[in-house]
Amino acid sequence: MQFPQTVDNNKNNERKDENNNTENEVACQGPSNEIQEVESVESTMHNNELDSDTILREDPALWPLQLKENERMKYLNKGCAFFQNKDSNFESSKRMFKNQYRYYSVQYFQKVMNNGEKCDRKWLMFPESTGCVFCYVCKLFSTDFDNVFVKSGFYNWKKAKQTIFGHENSKEHIQCMIKWIEFIKQNTHVDEYMVTQIKREFNYWSAILNRIVAVIRFLARRGLAFRGHNEVIGSSNNGNYLGMLELLTQFDPVLKQHIDFFANKGKGNVNYLSKTICEELIYIMSQKVLTHIITEIKRAKYWGIIVDSTTDISHVDQLSVIFRYYLIGHVYERFFCFLQIKSHEGKSLITDILDLLERYNIEITNCRGQAYDNASNMSGKYSGLQARLKERSELAFYIPCAGHSLNLVGQCSISECINSINYFCVLLSLYSFFVASTHRWDLLKGNHALNHTLKRLSDTRWS
Ligand SMILES: [Zn+2]
Repeated sequence: MQFPQTVDNNKNNERKDENNNTENEVACQGPSNEIQEVESVESTMHNNELDSDTILREDPALWPLQLKENERMKYLNKGCAFFQNKDSNFESSKRMFKNQYRYYSVQYFQKVMNNGEKCDRKWLMFPESTGCVFCYVCKLFSTDFDNVFVKSGFYNWKKAKQTIFGHENSKEHIQCMIKWIEFIKQNTHVDEYMVTQIKREFNYWSAILNRIVAVIRFLARRGLAFRGHNEVIGSSNNGNYLGMLELLTQFDPVLKQHIDFFANKGKGNVNYLSKTICEELIYIMSQKVLTHIITEIKRAKYWGIIVDSTTDISHVDQLSVIFRYYLIGHVYERFFCFLQIKSHEGKSLITDILDLLERYNIEITNCRGQAYDNASNMSGKYSGLQARLKERSELAFYIPCAGHSLNLVGQCSISECINSINYFCVLLSLYSFFVASTHRWDLLKGNHALNHTLKRLSDTRWS
């Protein structure tokens, strides 16, 4: 099948004589028979008007120009898809243009939107008897009987693209479409056509969101940074979030199509790829996780709390809050949140924790355990955090952090023994000696008899 050539013509306004060739075009040599056919069809239409009450004409070319109400209802109830003939081989559309045959193409049944998306032209009909195209809605609702899409059918394939585009954007056609949609609304509970459109939009954006959420979950679980120096798709500095989405486009056609059409379009264009949407999704996911943990704590009823403070990279002192509870055969230890604190004093810390518990409606009286490091502000017997919490919940037993205690014990015992001090000093000197030169380190590695390597003494803040 030969596809029509694209013609540069900006005249999108519908003309009633679209099928008449202009002076630059050679008169249609082929369709003379078809024109006669159309004329004979029209005369047949009027002759058959008498029995139109009973006959449903499957060929739209045979529909009378002025339809009776019962006829219109019959065709409306049948729906446009019944008359479209999308499966035709379009042989009957063959027309001669400048010694070259042109045909109607199935591609005209689809319209390409500005965003590249394709949607069906549900109004276009191709009756094989005439090899022309008609407009379903205009034939049913329009009073403009001279319109070529109503009267004799359109077949000037050389100008098909712009004429069909012009027709669907014409005022008369749009009004007919509105009447059609109104009819469907009145005859069905919900407009099926609109529902299909909404469903398609919904499915599309859901598919995109699923991919975006999967990437966010992956990065969040591994504690990887999201953003880079810019938000430009294609840039090597756009961070892990956009970088991973770009990587997925190599294997995922849905995401590839989305990014090809929507990426780098700037503000005001919805694409769900911006940092704002990313941060919003992270916030929604965090709230969901938090709600889940709160529900579990309330179901478990009794819980323990583990708290420690540390300074983050932006020099803000933050209290990490962890809840520990037992639920249906399992012990859970879940990170809850970071609390920004004003002071390290037990009095200030207890206020912050009580505020947090009150905010999430968690009963302090159900606290059965608390664990902190051995610092006096936390473990202090009289004014430490543990003592102040115990005042509110008598059964909240304090257990010092085992790791911290072990570290203190080790540190204390080593510092009391001169041999162990010498031993660790020699180890550290050896490490310093070898690490100062790559050549020495190579010699150390080259000694296969030595199965171990040297390491620096641990420099955690406790040591
Ligand atoms: Zn129309």
